[in-house]
Amino acid sequence: MTTDMRHEGKTALVTGGSRGIGRAISRRLAREGALVAVHYGHDEAAAERTVKEIDAEGGRAFAVRAELGVDGDAATLWGAFDRALAGQDAEPGLDILVNNAGITVPRTIANVTEQDYDRVFAINTKAPFFIIQRGLDRLRDGGRIVNISSVATRVGLPAIVSYTMTKSALDHLTLALATELGPRGITVNSVAPGYTETEINPTLRIQEIRQRYSDASVFGRLGQPADIADVVSFVASDEARWVTGQWIDASGGAHIGA
Ligand code: NAP
Repeated sequence: MTTDMRHEGKTALVTGGSRGIGRAISRRLAREGALVAVHYGHDEAAAERTVKEIDAEGGRAFAVRAELGVDGDAATLWGAFDRALAGQDAEPGLDILVNNAGITVPRTIANVTEQDYDRVFAINTKAPFFIIQRGLDRLRDGGRIVNISSVATRVGLPAIVSYTMTKSALDHLTLALATELGPRGITVNSVAPGYTETEINPTLRIQEIRQRYSDASVFGRLGQPADIADVVSFVASDEARWVTGQWIDASGGAHIGA
């Protein structure tokens, strides 16, 4: 729990901010004072629900729709963001960009189709790349970019190989941009969740799989979206001004044992 208003006066955009980990990040940033753009692609009701929750908690948020993984997605997103922000009595531009929206492909190499491969890269890697490219003139100096990666990039998990490749590419984007954006005081970091209780992974409904994923953490449980949101909020804050280009584990120590 926090009563700190460390994001007061900041504007944030959380892609995929409507559900799962993104919803927790949106709520956390808003609770700490940020005006939050809750982005979504398809599920308008979920986005509206998250905005309402934030309102009820005394925060400020608005929904922004843009399907990612399609031609022109970044331009669509920023157009919708700019228009919605203009209606919020806020300065144009933003301070915190969280690239969180993502999908998974739970298939081994033998079963990944070219369509699967193109889609997961389009949503998880290409979209953040061009969202950042087109967002750089909106992002204020001293700003924050947080890319949501995965603990999977640090272990061999053949069952999600194409997904993990998308996150590894994102990790390099983090490193390269941290270098380029340092002179502007903008930090760029990856935050890497482990097995987290959201809808991205329907197999979590199977008790045996839940148990296996819980056992992967040294704490013996699944991550909750709030576990990740707390880390993202720190990385997005002024307290983390000296941390950039880093891959920050938020997996409950998943797979660190022998
Ligand atoms: P989730 O519960 O499935 O939520 C995904 C979010 O992304 C939703 O807001 C969804 O909005 C949005 N989204 C998905 N595809 C989209 C598209 N094509 N266009 C626009 N928006 C889209 O997922 P999550 O588990 O919270 O995952 C969030 C991030 O954490 C992802 O990058 C994921 O790879 C990463 N991660 C998750 C875990 C885990 O165990 N959960 C572990 C490691 C990393 P709509 O439904 O409206 O499209």
